This record gives sequence, structure tokens and C-alpha cells, in this order.
Amino acid sequence: MKFGSKLIHNGNEIDKATGALSIPIYQTSTYHQADIDNGQEYDYSRSANPTRKALENTIAKLENGDKGFALASGMAAIASVLAIFSAKDHVIICEDVYGGTYRISSKFFNRFDVEITFVNAADLEEITKNIKKNTKALFLESPSNPLLKITDLQACADIAREHNLLLILDNTFMSPYLQRPLDLGFDIVVHSATKFIGGHSDVVGGLIVVKGNELAKRVYAVQNGFGAILGPQDSWLLLRGLKTLKVRLDYQQRNAQKLAEWLDNHEKIETVYYPGLPSHKGREIHFRQADGAGAVLSFKTKETQMAAQFMKKVKLAAAAVSLGGVETIVSYPVKMSHAAIPKEERERLGITDNLIRVSLGLEDIEDLIEDFNNALK
Ligand code: PLP
Repeated sequence: MKFGSKLIHNGNEIDKATGALSIPIYQTSTYHQADIDNGQEYDYSRSANPTRKALENTIAKLENGDKGFALASGMAAIASVLAIFSAKDHVIICEDVYGGTYRISSKFFNRFDVEITFVNAADLEEITKNIKKNTKALFLESPSNPLLKITDLQACADIAREHNLLLILDNTFMSPYLQRPLDLGFDIVVHSATKFIGGHSDVVGGLIVVKGNELAKRVYAVQNGFGAILGPQDSWLLLRGLKTLKVRLDYQQRNAQKLAEWLDNHEKIETVYYPGLPSHKGREIHFRQADGAGAVLSFKTKETQMAAQFMKKVKLAAAAVSLGGVETIVSYPVKMSHAAIPKEERERLGITDNLIRVSLGLEDIEDLIEDFNNALK
């Protein structure tokens, strides 16, 4: 079955108890245990809940994995994955990882003696050079945020296999529609489901999918033990969002391509970062591992003060953090998502004062281009 059909028909779309075509919101914390001597599937909602289970089974199917887990946010998912490691384990993480992942690994897990090294993952030699005896995992993002840098996932899978490392990918920007890391040899995929999977800027959630029983047990122990589970109402919202993932992303991606091409020809724009542009570094690698360029792009204005002016003048697009919703969102990384990173480090990573990130929504592209044109005057 092709991906669009799988979003609608994956074996988890019909409620087994009633036949309902929309999985009910099982708003319950506990369950009547009719036969206490024989365990049953549901006994307490931190451990399992039927609405959450339908979502977890759906995302596992869509990522071609063995087991899915739904958590209270993308960060809860990422923290729960990092929590499978122990003191003295070493994890290598790409240096332009999402700011929250950077924070939790360098300011929280380090307190429990999990050793972290940040590397430029576009440079495979730098990854190999940093592998040590206690290295247990490689945590990556591709394309990265906000400069859409591309990492060669297949090559990283080869390195991981050779050194017996677990491979983890934050697949938020692509979603399982455009990139399926487990098929490339990854072991764990995480998502901020708040973004394209939810798709409507109305829910915060996180998802994990793993390969193999052993890993599933380790992640479940954290999910159930730590308890940062996704509630049934939010699980239902994600189930509903997933059904339209393909149509939304197809349209948003077309908008992104058109806007990227328009910006690329604009006299006040210095550079556009979008894997759909022929000039994008890593484009060839990206299209080997993904089925599309996605719906997020960023650009740098020639004059620095133009970026700040653009953020004030843009009207149709919302000026906000987050991405992946039905509305176009523009964000100013140096003042928003990356404000906590010292300026020097930000500039080394290319996150400069003239950089703007755009997540394309479902508006007509002509209206968006008119809005951007006015904001750039
Ligand atoms: N990963 C990426 C790539 C993100 O962009 C975000 C949020 O912006 C997160 C993880 C964290 O997700 P959440 O905000 O749902 O906790």
C-alpha cells in the first residue's frame, strides 16, 4: 500500500469495541479488572490507554518500526530516549540539533554522567574521530534547523554498524511521509508531533518508534516509569492530524518550492536555504534519503536590519516559534528559538542576525508572495 492509503488504512483506524471510524477518546485513568488472576491489556492509563495505543501502533506502522510510543511533547520523547542510557555512556549529537535537545543533553543528562559530544555531522570524519570505547549512540537531525543542513544518513548507518552504536534520528522536519530513517538502518526515530504530524498548531506531543523488542522494552520502561505520557485527547488530535499528513505536506511543499524560487531571485535576499533548490548544499544526498524537500526553508537578507523589519511588517504569516501548521509561520531564530545560544557560537553555526525561517502553510502562494514582497520593501 502506498503512504497516503496507509495513513487512512493501517489496521488501527477502527475502534475494536464499537466499530467507530474515529477512535474514541478513552478518557479514563483506570479499568475494571474483571479477572484479577489473568492480566489484561489495560489496567492503568499511564501503562496503556486505547486511544494512545491506536496512535502508537499507527506511527509504528508509518515509520516501518516495531513499536511506537506517544509522549507529552517532542522534548519528552527525546528525553525519554536519552534516558535509556546510563552513567558513563557516551552519546554523539549533531551540533545544530534542536535547542531543547542541546539544553537537555548538556545541562541535564550531564548531571547524571551521560557524556555528550556535539559534532558537525555533515563531516563524517568528525563523527568517526569522536567515537570512543564508551560511545553508545549517534543522535542526528537531517535536514537541520534552521539552516536545513543535510547529513548523509546512509553513511552514518554504516559508521554506526561498524562501531556497534545505536542510531537515533529526530525526523520532525520530514515526517514519516518524506523520510523513513528505520529503512535506512536507524534504530530509533523521534518526532515533535506538535509540528507536521499534528499539523494544526493545536497540540503539543511527541512520538518515538523503535526497531526490535529489546529496544522497545528499554523505551517502554522509561515511558511507563517516568510517566511523561500523552493524554487521550491529545492522542486523538494526533490521530486526526495524521490522516491528512500527505495532502497537507504535498501542498505545503509546493508552496515552499515556489517561495524559495521567488526569494532566490529577490534583490534584497542574500541566500535561500531549501533542499528543493539546485544550489542547496547536500541536495543530492537529501534526495537519496528523502522523498521531498519539505515545507520549511530559511533565508538571509542582504542588509541585517531588513530581517528585523520583515518580521515587523509581515502580516499574513504569523510571527511565532513552531512549524508544520496549516498557517504560514515566520520566525527570527536569533531572537526566538536560538536566543539562548551565545552570539559567537550562533554565528559560528551560521545563525546570524539576518536569518529568517519560514514554515509554509496552506494559504494560496500568491497571497504569501504579496505579503513577503510588501514586508521586504
Ligand atoms: N525537535 C525539533 C526538530 C523541533 O523543532 C522541536 C520543537 O520545535 C522539538 C524537537 C521539541 O518538540 P516539542 O516542542 O514538541 O517539545
